[in-house]
Amino acid sequence: MIESEPKIQAAERLEKEKKEEPKKKFFSGLKSRFLAFATAGFLTLGGGWEKGFADQLKIKIPDKKGAPVEFVLETAITDEKLTNFKEKIIREEPEFARWIERYIESVKSQLDELTDEVLDYDLQSRTDLEKERNLRSVLQEPEAEGHADYLIEKGHRTVISLKKKPEILKKHQEFLKSNLDTIAWGIVFMADSEDVRNNQIKFIFPPEINLSIHDLETEELSARVLPERSSGIRVPQIDILPSTFEFNTNDEFNLNLYVNIIIHELIHALNIGSGKQWRTINTSSMHGKLKEGITQNIAFEVVQYLGTKHENIKPIVSVLGRGYDIRLILAAILESIFRSRQYGGDTLAKWHTGIINNDDYMLNRLSDALRVLNLDSSIVQDINGINNYDPREGESWAFRRILIDILAKLRLGNVNLSPEFLKAIIANNRRLDDWQVKKFEETIQLGSIETGIQGKVDEIKQKKGNARY
Ligand SMILES: [Zn+2]
Repeated sequence: MIESEPKIQAAERLEKEKKEEPKKKFFSGLKSRFLAFATAGFLTLGGGWEKGFADQLKIKIPDKKGAPVEFVLETAITDEKLTNFKEKIIREEPEFARWIERYIESVKSQLDELTDEVLDYDLQSRTDLEKERNLRSVLQEPEAEGHADYLIEKGHRTVISLKKKPEILKKHQEFLKSNLDTIAWGIVFMADSEDVRNNQIKFIFPPEINLSIHDLETEELSARVLPERSSGIRVPQIDILPSTFEFNTNDEFNLNLYVNIIIHELIHALNIGSGKQWRTINTSSMHGKLKEGITQNIAFEVVQYLGTKHENIKPIVSVLGRGYDIRLILAAILESIFRSRQYGGDTLAKWHTGIINNDDYMLNRLSDALRVLNLDSSIVQDINGINNYDPREGESWAFRRILIDILAKLRLGNVNLSPEFLKAIIANNRRLDDWQVKKFEETIQLGSIETGIQGKVDEIKQKKGNARY
């Protein structure tokens, strides 16, 4: 069930066609708002378990003036870093510290409620029938034939499996709850920004977490965060779709996938607009797409760190579809560029959460940062290309091309980010299964990226040459 190119295109086409009909909101925002979590097979847990911390992309400023900057990999979250950070926040921003503790408690009770909701769910109830009817009515188009049955069956199967062994779900919820403190502080640490924290205290409410069965979903979705629209209070809603719960043939529940998804969605929930600007939430295509990369980049490090304490927890790579891995890399590159500066280091975090609600402003700051680093500031145009690539190119191919163009420009500035290094961003010191790394290499076609970079380098050189004469 990999997020495949044709499916995405089909979704985009349908999105256009159905825009006029509100009841068919099914596909709208699919690309930008929902987590398109494709889940390929069952992740093997256990395996080679070594203690190790994640390596996160950073920029090293050279000691020698005029020397090119260097991309390096550095430990992201460690016990020491996280403890120091937490102590600092408790000392300097006690209000936020109290806020996040309340947030954590609230999420814990929402997880308990989710457990009850799942275990008490009545498949024979009138509500369930009504939901089935609803789903059928929005899936009437010929392309969707049989899809409603498939989704209904899948939803039922999931609930039956969960109810069969209630202690398993409870155990997994306990696992999440007992690690929620680490998870929440890890997320806050990764997106370190005082402005974002101040904004969260004022405007962000803890999410409601609900089972979403027979909902308007596609099979790729596992969970999604939506703002509450009906009530006056802006409570984010985490909808847990049946595919969040994945079972293997022995009816064993995939804890790792579940933990990865919940963390990913909690990051969305913590950054869902900035309250005041709720109604003007950034809906640009660039925000919708990079948001997923930024979110997954944070989730990646938090899960990795959690994995150093629990051997069956691992970050997921390659199962989210090609687009997610490349988006993660693009977000990591952007974040490292912004973070290389003292002032404005949190620009991406602020843009992500909507405090900076203007793409041009963010891009201008990027351009400044690139200039200071002595890097080609036209990289800004490549990033802006996320807003306007030809849909026929296909989303993940467009992202790959944009990445290659950026790497070529970096190389011309004597900053080498090799294809092997891209792999290292994903895999270095990480708790990944070998097949995940292999799959990553295959899906982004790592082998031909070097050729792509070379081609682009030649193209740019040639253009520059022509301009000179
Ligand atoms: Zn997402």
